Amino acid sequence: MKLIKIHNNSLLSFLNYTGLNVCYISNTILSRNTFHNQRELSSLYTGLPVSLYTTHVSRGSVPGEDGEGDSGVQTLINIHLPSRSPGTRDAGGERERRVITIRKELLAMEAEMQAFVDSLRHNLTAEDVVNLEACMDCKMCGEACAWYLVTGDEKLHPTYKTGFIRQIYRRYMTLEGQIGGALGLVPTPTLADLKEHMQYFWACTACGRCTLACPSGISIRRIVRLARAAYADSGLSYANPTIRSIIENTDRHRHSFGLTAAQVLGRVGLFLRNEGLEAPVNVQNAEFLFVCPAAGNTKIPDYGIKLIKILNAAGVSYTISPYVIDTGTEIDHIAVHHKLSKQMLEDWEQEADRLGVQKILLVECGCDTRTLYAEASETLGRPFRYPIVSVDALMLDLIKQGRLPVEKTHLKVTLHDPCYATRLSGLGDLFRELLNLVTDNFIEMTPNREYNYCCNGGAGGMRLPENTATRRKISVLKANQIRATGADFVTSPCVVCTLSLEDTCQTYQLSPSGDRMALVLFEVVYAAMEPALAKLGELDRMRVPAVLRNCDQEFFIAHSVEGQMMRLMQQPDFPELLDWLEQDDIVKRFSKDHPQVYDDIRALREMVMNCENCD
Ligand code: SF4
Ligand code: SF4
Repeated sequence: MKLIKIHNNSLLSFLNYTGLNVCYISNTILSRNTFHNQRELSSLYTGLPVSLYTTHVSRGSVPGEDGEGDSGVQTLINIHLPSRSPGTRDAGGERERRVITIRKELLAMEAEMQAFVDSLRHNLTAEDVVNLEACMDCKMCGEACAWYLVTGDEKLHPTYKTGFIRQIYRRYMTLEGQIGGALGLVPTPTLADLKEHMQYFWACTACGRCTLACPSGISIRRIVRLARAAYADSGLSYANPTIRSIIENTDRHRHSFGLTAAQVLGRVGLFLRNEGLEAPVNVQNAEFLFVCPAAGNTKIPDYGIKLIKILNAAGVSYTISPYVIDTGTEIDHIAVHHKLSKQMLEDWEQEADRLGVQKILLVECGCDTRTLYAEASETLGRPFRYPIVSVDALMLDLIKQGRLPVEKTHLKVTLHDPCYATRLSGLGDLFRELLNLVTDNFIEMTPNREYNYCCNGGAGGMRLPENTATRRKISVLKANQIRATGADFVTSPCVVCTLSLEDTCQTYQLSPSGDRMALVLFEVVYAAMEPALAKLGELDRMRVPAVLRNCDQEFFIAHSVEGQMMRLMQQPDFPELLDWLEQDDIVKRFSKDHPQVYDDIRALREMVMNCENCD
């Protein structure tokens, strides 16, 4: 039998926690008190008032009640009983060793519970434990959380989430919890409890606003991420169809919405050829590899064309990958599936290696900046290998360097600070500097910057349909913020924020005309660039990227989106891709301003039918 001596501090904390306030270690009395659970202990073990307790606790293979060696399910507690005259020390006392067999059913957890606990054990840092233990239960965090503020629902309070994880931590991951739990002195969360609590970890956008209100600065979003990861590791989050689809789509297609590279490139190709534009694909040694988040190329690829025009007009050296078509935001922040998230990040790095680029360029998508700046180190166990540049930082530089001509508009626009980009990554000043260069009518909303309210769309707020009713209800805060500015438009550098803001504007009828009111920040920049180029007579600069200007035919075919389309046309499943494009909602939206897009699809179909190389 292996005996493990309990360190004084941990024993004290055990005793404080379980309410067993008297202890006796190595024949030294540390303190003496009455037992909170005197009656239970007395009846359970001795029938006597017990005032001295525990010399050693050991775990291991020992004979149990059934006489069998049974590794890992039994705990020995040496109970040092007092003399029959309570209050006296050992002298004359009766010393007994009691073997307490913690009943197997209390320790043998269900497989999912075990996996959940293992995940927490693996991912919890010392700082997380301090976060869990430092909570004073003052509830001030709830005063900053939109989900709780508007609904008043205690289950949406930040502490409902953290309290549950603390309970699991204490019960299953501390010695005192394992003993106290087995004695029935501390609550034992079960698999049923895990399932019951799961939805509340996704009724949270991990926005971090609650931390600002917490006197201890506890990172509740971090605890939420740990919980989501544990739900993924235990397989429990697969019960949610949306989370399951994000995991399966990422695994299968490396795209969280399940689009294939052909669908992403085919649709963008259709839009670009319709506008007579080009973008560089698979170009070696460009400065930037530009990867668009899945939400961007799934929900707003038609708006994204303006960004291609900006990059072309400024002569940026960039390339699109024909393989990496998602940034991995959703797998990292909604599903919090570390293994797949790691694979996504490694895919990026390998593709950047293959293409020989210097940096990664990304559009903020709620979480992308954070994914690569901060969370990547956690996922990879090291920093991401390439420098990350957000398109907003690049546009600001280009304007300042005179490479991107702009003429200030009078757009009356307010800014929504994305939680991840401003509160959690500190980019708020950058967005303001950029906005002030492209409009003379920028109006701050209140509160703003790190105190801004979340759009309620990120990290699953918008993606999970079961959140829709609550999200719209709590977005009254955001609607009131926007309304108070009197602005005609609200902009955000983040794609998901913009989608959520537009939903809020529609829900609360903020736009008198009902027209679109939420713009991605690059659209505001575009509004200032186009007239400036027109004035210079240089609108053509937007059409073709620098690398494809004046190149030979072979290079153009190899590295243009049009060349990609030609390659797709050689594929036997190209007609199915055209069917998909014809039914696609985004193509439908694009067709409102570009009705000829369906003529293009028809023309492509005829080309394929007449193509000698295609059966
Ligand atoms: S992270 Fe945001 S949504 Fe989640 S509990 Fe905190 S304030 Fe609420
Ligand atoms: S504000 Fe901080 S200390 Fe207070 S209940 Fe919330 S997390 Fe705990």
